[in-house]
Amino acid sequence: MQFGANQKLKFNTQIGSYSIVTEREYYDSQITVTDSEADLLIGFFGRENIHSGNVAADKDKAGKTFRLYPNGEEITLNIVFPKPNKTELRLYLSAKAGFKPVANSVWFMFASDHALWIGSMAEAQWRDENIIMVYDETEGVYQDSLLELDEIKINRLKARDIFSRDRGLALARMQMAKYQCEYNPAHKLFNSRHTQLPYLEAHHLIPMALQKITPQKLDTLDNIFSLCPYCHRAIHHADTSLTRDIITRLVDKRPSILAMMNITVNDVFSFYSVEDIY
Ligand SMILES: [Zn+2]
Ligand SMILES: [Zn+2]
Repeated sequence: MQFGANQKLKFNTQIGSYSIVTEREYYDSQITVTDSEADLLIGFFGRENIHSGNVAADKDKAGKTFRLYPNGEEITLNIVFPKPNKTELRLYLSAKAGFKPVANSVWFMFASDHALWIGSMAEAQWRDENIIMVYDETEGVYQDSLLELDEIKINRLKARDIFSRDRGLALARMQMAKYQCEYNPAHKLFNSRHTQLPYLEAHHLIPMALQKITPQKLDTLDNIFSLCPYCHRAIHHADTSLTRDIITRLVDKRPSILAMMNITVNDVFSFYSVEDIY
């Protein structure tokens, strides 16, 4: 499957793909590449430069140079169209050549610096490294700022909040949500000792970290959700099914967010690293 915005950011590339290594592919030491992976290989090396037939028939033409992630070491892997009609494209895995990912790991390729990079990592590590929902230290400063009664301390927020979120929008959203959790209005809330209002947190469904690569403004009323502390922690840290459930319900509330970004709910899953990898 194609790289999403988070992988593009992480690997600093415009194009890439990733999928799970199956048991079969591991034991056969070959992957029949399809869809976006085939497009990437053919696009990079050129259809006419890929050997058609057995590797042994033209070792020079079958062997292609890749850079191994993360070191950048140059390795040669064989790619061929096994059949003359060129409908199938095959990549050979080889421990000797330097690339033999284990079964059930994620393998990936991306173009960068005029080279085609290839690599693999355990699925858990892949998901961990590709998450862009960073629950960083500015998060606490931002949430705290929502409790302040005046604007005196906002400068502190502005100085530290690299994505400059407007506290006024978050407060407006909470008011529009009638000071309830937008995932489930029945969720029990305590009152803030500062504001005497129900304590809520503001969450940007499309992560602010994407602001670096998207022209659409992400700090908007539509993209800000009023969540109870339980749901807010859950959308960042819960297991796949609960995180997806919260995301799905929030997207259903304001589907205009997807239209604005021209993305699907699966793209949103991938921002949180809870997408299906196939
Ligand atoms: Zn959040
Ligand atoms: Zn909640």
